Amino acid sequence: MLTDPEIEAARAELHRMIRAAFCRAMHTSRLPTMTLLSLAAGAVGAIYKEVAHQHCRAGSCPCGWEPNRAEDVETLRAALAATTDAAPSTDLRLVEVAGRA
Ligand SMILES: [Zn+2]
Repeated sequence: MLTDPEIEAARAELHRMIRAAFCRAMHTSRLPTMTLLSLAAGAVGAIYKEVAHQHCRAGSCPCGWEPNRAEDVETLRAALAATTDAAPSTDLRLVEVAGRA
């Protein structure tokens, strides 16, 4: 059973890694911000597809997850909406400043 600290640690680590990749892309490309954010969201979708595919064969993973694309994509949409509804954190303000540098 996962604890809140385990979930928070995973959330913080994924946020840090994705933000770092996003900032690198901002500095090394001339792509518009929304294009890069769409590519980042697409990368999550691609990861979903790869991991779901790995779970389609019986016995391929002991975790027991059975992908359901419609439900899973709705869960991902809800997570994106909930996160973007939240007040911006200090970290996100730093991303915006870094993007304009
Ligand atoms: Zn699994």
